[in-house]
Amino acid sequence: MSTDCIFCKIVSGQIPSTPVYEDEQTYAFADINPKAPVHILVVPRKHIDSLSHAQQSDRALLGHLMWAAAEIARHKGLAKGYRIVINNGEDGGQTVDHIHLHLLGGRTFTWPPG
Ligand code: AMP
Ligand code: ZN
Repeated sequence: MSTDCIFCKIVSGQIPSTPVYEDEQTYAFADINPKAPVHILVVPRKHIDSLSHAQQSDRALLGHLMWAAAEIARHKGLAKGYRIVINNGEDGGQTVDHIHLHLLGGRTFTWPPG
């Protein structure tokens, strides 16, 4: 846990969130500023700054996050599709330095993204 990390505080319950899914390695909650009818953040309980900071020993955890997102999408009934986003670093638009997957659904998305 990183003591000044907002997502670590959400994972530990110090900051309230709307839970969507949890297991021993991951926690998923509603994004506070949703960009789609379904906008869920999937984070590891372990603090990792960003995808760039993930280590070889984190490979299984990264796969687990992806699997959890797909599982949540199934439970949310997103049968027509959805988008998974990882913003990484300054150019990638990352604003919270605790790795997270955005699960976006419930509308059609365009490509390329902005
Ligand atoms: P990113 O810009 O990829 O780092 O995404 C950070 C996301 O965290 C944004 O979509 C924010 O709306 C979201 N966010 C920030 N603070 C909170 C919070 N307290 N609860 C839920 N979502 C949050
Ligand atoms: Zn953290």
